[in-house]
Amino acid sequence: MTARRSVIPVFVPHLGCPNACVFCNQNRISGNEKPSEASDVHSCIKKAKEKLPPGTKAELAFYGGSFTAIPPEQQTDLLEAARTYVEDGFISEIRLSTRPDAIDAERLRLLKRYSVKTIELGAQSMDAQVLKLSGRGHGPEDTEQASNLIKQRGFKLILQMMTGLPGDSREKSIYTARKLAELKPDGVRIYPTVIIRDTALYEMWRSGVYKEHSVEDAIKLCAELFLVFEAEGIPVIRLGLNPTDELSGGDAVAGAYHPALGELVYSEIMLRKARELLGRASIGKRILLGVHSSKVSAMAGHKRRNIKKLTEEFGFKEIKIKAIDTEPGNIILLSLNNI
Ligand code: SF4
Repeated sequence: MTARRSVIPVFVPHLGCPNACVFCNQNRISGNEKPSEASDVHSCIKKAKEKLPPGTKAELAFYGGSFTAIPPEQQTDLLEAARTYVEDGFISEIRLSTRPDAIDAERLRLLKRYSVKTIELGAQSMDAQVLKLSGRGHGPEDTEQASNLIKQRGFKLILQMMTGLPGDSREKSIYTARKLAELKPDGVRIYPTVIIRDTALYEMWRSGVYKEHSVEDAIKLCAELFLVFEAEGIPVIRLGLNPTDELSGGDAVAGAYHPALGELVYSEIMLRKARELLGRASIGKRILLGVHSSKVSAMAGHKRRNIKKLTEEFGFKEIKIKAIDTEPGNIILLSLNNI
């Protein structure tokens, strides 16, 4: 039996960030007002250890800042706070997120000493103009260099990209996805841009300089990007910001925020795959589609949207969906007229 796994998130909002990216307000995204200190790390792990069933493998994750841009003594303090729990086996893995221009051999040596396994890089875009307009303060070449170094030194690499940034377009997003896929990350996260209160982007949107990235556009674009990564065998481990009470309660003012964005994107992906499959087949009026049990509702779509669309587009009398033993991304045409 595999051991249970649990993630212990520690938020360090804006810690180490050299500048304010126009879209970002980590205090509102994470719901944490101030960065955690070593004592907070220690008490978070201790509480988790008391609460979790024995045998659970915990992963400690530092999110919300630029970890490797924090002064080394402060990084050491935060990592040192977890050391006892790494040594006793409770923490099986440490991961952290940071900026591409805050990676070099020296910083990676420090992380290795503390058994950090996974580094998440906020690449956001591989288009220099988009990065500039978003106030990122780094170029696409920093993402390439940092990614290569991270992999060479034996860390797991997760790349984060955004869609709908200032100056962005569908073509630039697809270009970004292809460039990121070339870097062979172990996974990617895709975050469509949300307009968050108290950010420069909010002001840009209010003054008409920036046009919001709608939920509808984000769903279609993310489905395309997902398929780019899937074709290269790269898992998309997150689609859209984690919903929080703060974001849902008004901090997400406009843009591509939806608490179930990921599900809506998966449903769009299944619709596209089904269209392709059905377009190739010579079929009757009644069909049965077999999908993995976790994808039955995504295949049907929100309020059976996909079933209605496919019925209309292909002139079917009936479409049924059945859970079968297959890979989560597959759709199998099981039978034609005999259902
Ligand atoms: S996007 Fe990353 S680097 Fe930019 S302000 Fe937010 S946490 Fe800092």
